[in-house]
Amino acid sequence: SLTDGTEDIQAWLEDIHQQARTRLGQGHVASYIPALSTQDANRFGIAICTNDGRVYTAGDAREPFSVQSISKVFLLTLSLRAFGNALWERVGLNPSGMPFNSLAQLEAERGKPRNPFINAGAIVVADSLVSAFATPVQVIQDAARRLSGNASILIDRDVLASEWKHRSRNAAMAYLTKAFGNINNEVDDVLYAYFACCSLSMNCVDLAVALNYLAAEGYSRKTDEQFVEAELARRINSLLFTSGMYDAAGEFAYRVGLPAKSGVGGGIVAIVPGQFSVCAWSPALDDNGNSVVAQYALELMSDRL
Ligand code: GLN
Repeated sequence: SLTDGTEDIQAWLEDIHQQARTRLGQGHVASYIPALSTQDANRFGIAICTNDGRVYTAGDAREPFSVQSISKVFLLTLSLRAFGNALWERVGLNPSGMPFNSLAQLEAERGKPRNPFINAGAIVVADSLVSAFATPVQVIQDAARRLSGNASILIDRDVLASEWKHRSRNAAMAYLTKAFGNINNEVDDVLYAYFACCSLSMNCVDLAVALNYLAAEGYSRKTDEQFVEAELARRINSLLFTSGMYDAAGEFAYRVGLPAKSGVGGGIVAIVPGQFSVCAWSPALDDNGNSVVAQYALELMSDRL
């Protein structure tokens, strides 16, 4: 198999990279904020981190990009560590069937977001972290640094400023949720924490390594600790499987069949439980906001597994 040393993983990865490259040119780079619209659509990287700590890369795997919604996995993990199942009184566990920034569903369901991976859900999770920590952004950045082993990970200030300037829709979600009593802190503080995490700049290697605990029953090799209980890692993977790919989670499950989280920066992290974590990145997105080339690379990978 892939991880018992009998396969040439490097050659395998390069082969997938070659084949997935053929879809460069399809899709469109995110344009909802100016800071992301200038990304080079021809970038494409992929990195694997095996559970025994080996890292393999192809293409632009060490070029930092905006993690965007992939940060929702860090937010959720830290909130579950702090609050456990009590979080589920405030956020649901079901796929949304709506775009990730939908307001209609939030209104219909009286301020309880469908799941932690749509914006409204992540904003509630961010609110919980603002309650739990004096410096929530620092806590999240530190977690990203420690889990990846890269102490130079930063928040991209241009992206953050752009998110803030164009925050109307996310602000509307946060205020609506607060009107229903499901945000406990000042909306500006919660939005700032949410945007700062979206604006973390990380590369494929950083993300594959940082989220490897989800492949390794909750154990982080970098921090050498049980970062979450094995049961919790399994549950987070279940949520990623059903809701990690926005409104395309069902289609992605059919085509790839792995727990995964995407971001509008073009990154996708996928988990092969018991074996490895993988991050693919290419900025051009399809209509659901998922990277065209990264999705294809993961599909090719899954086929060969
Ligand atoms: N910063 C983006 C937003 O809040 C993140 C969304 C995403 O990656 N889907 O709209």
